[in-house]
Amino acid sequence: PPDVETLGRHTWTLLHSITATYPTVATPEKQQEMSMFLDIFGRIYPCWFCAGDFRKWKEENKPKLETRQDFGDWMCRAHNAVNKKLGKKEFDCRFWEERWREAKDG
Ligand code: FAD
Repeated sequence: PPDVETLGRHTWTLLHSITATYPTVATPEKQQEMSMFLDIFGRIYPCWFCAGDFRKWKEENKPKLETRQDFGDWMCRAHNAVNKKLGKKEFDCRFWEERWREAKDG
């Protein structure tokens, strides 16, 4: 498997891109679908200690899936929890959409 850093960088690109294209207001069906995706993601992400910490964080911070803004902010906070753990700079979550709405390299 790829190394933890490369895998992480590309996975955050995928996850933030998913939030940036999520419905501005999501139907119950879309919310349920995303809830299932996040559960499965937390079980199959191929860095097991990363996945374990993600599941724990998600347990304490229930996904906010009603709107794109809420979901994008939730994902930004999930990423910041990892940044903090790794001693990286935290990202200002007011700017997540500006960073990820337009396709850019991760
Ligand atoms: P990344 O953290 O990969 O970020 C990529 C880009 O996203 C940044 O350049 C920035 O432009 C933007 N960004 C940064 N923070 C945010 C934010 N909060 N919101 C929106 N955009 C942001 N690594 C470990 O060593 N241990 C772990 O336990 C671990 N757990 C992980 C759990 C998950 C679910 C994922 C996806 C990754 C995990 N990683 C972990 C990998 C780690 O988060 C980084 O991806 C990796 O260290 C590479 O970091 P980077 O500095 O290149 O930037």
